[in-house]
Amino acid sequence: MPDETRQSAKIEPLRKARPCPECSTPSQREHYPFCSNRCREIDLARWLKGSYAIPVAEDETKAEYPDEN
Ligand SMILES: [Zn+2]
Repeated sequence: MPDETRQSAKIEPLRKARPCPECSTPSQREHYPFCSNRCREIDLARWLKGSYAIPVAEDETKAEYPDEN
């Protein structure tokens, strides 16, 4: 097997600058996907407040314990 595939996979493609989810400023790699630590904290704060709906499948526990019959 030639190593070329592995080598090319190692090269990190330049990430397209994604707009910051908070203020739509192009995100900085350092704070990806946000533009700054401030926006990251804003997002985190919102997350902690529970504004983000996290869908929880109620059947999940059941799935882990299938019918013992
Ligand atoms: Zn931002």
